[in-house]
Amino acid sequence: MEGRSYEGLASLADIQVDERFWGNGSAPVVKEWLAENYDPDTMPTLQVASIAGREGVWLLGWNSDGTEYEPLLTLIFGEQYARRQLDRAQALAAHVEPGVVCPRCHVNRYMPYVPGQVRELDDPAPPALSRVDNATHICSQCGDAEAMNDFAGLPLPPKEDWPVVVPGSFGQGRL
Ligand SMILES: [Zn+2]
Repeated sequence: MEGRSYEGLASLADIQVDERFWGNGSAPVVKEWLAENYDPDTMPTLQVASIAGREGVWLLGWNSDGTEYEPLLTLIFGEQYARRQLDRAQALAAHVEPGVVCPRCHVNRYMPYVPGQVRELDDPAPPALSRVDNATHICSQCGDAEAMNDFAGLPLPPKEDWPVVVPGSFGQGRL
């Protein structure tokens, strides 16, 4: 991304809001806030960037350093949301996928339980508890597989035999 300032752009309507960074459903909120509140004469300069392979200019925030203003994300959505969203944006930038790799299949991911944390739409599902020891968290698909085994009266693959091959994974689960 190549950052530059908002000055010189034709209008606020030209600015795109990338929901991967601002959050699901945030684009209309941010655009409406800017349209109703933003005053380039008294408020910090908006920072925009071009994104490779995507048209338009994309909003990064504003340059509030040394001003009385909070970061734009914090001002619009509040501090708690902003902190969580910045963490997500950093993970995205580092190409880190959310969630934890399942120890049983080594293919799927689950989202660990964190008190008070809100799950995003595109996050992996919460974990299942493995029937092998009733203590290990596994992905929900593996949880289903163990349940099916149990109902069928089949033995469960013990942890020593993990990772198991997941049906449909073409053996990718076997590392
Ligand atoms: Zn799994």
